[in-house]
Amino acid sequence: MAFPIKTCVACGEEFELRPGKPGFANRCPTCSEPEETGPAANSPVGAKGLGSEAELNAARRKAMRDMLYRKES
Ligand SMILES: [Zn+2]
Repeated sequence: MAFPIKTCVACGEEFELRPGKPGFANRCPTCSEPEETGPAANSPVGAKGLGSEAELNAARRKAMRDMLYRKES
């Protein structure tokens, strides 16, 4: 059985939205988990850390897309 594919709002990764998945519906299982080792997610520093990680992922995807487009043209 196939589950709907969603894009995580926190890290930008695609994930299967399974029925009964714990955490947020718009976050992948990894980002739904409470961060026990990292900085507190509700602190300004923690939120900033998450943001930069998402930016890093976005930049990585953009670079990859640019590379693919360049190959095609
Ligand atoms: Zn995620």
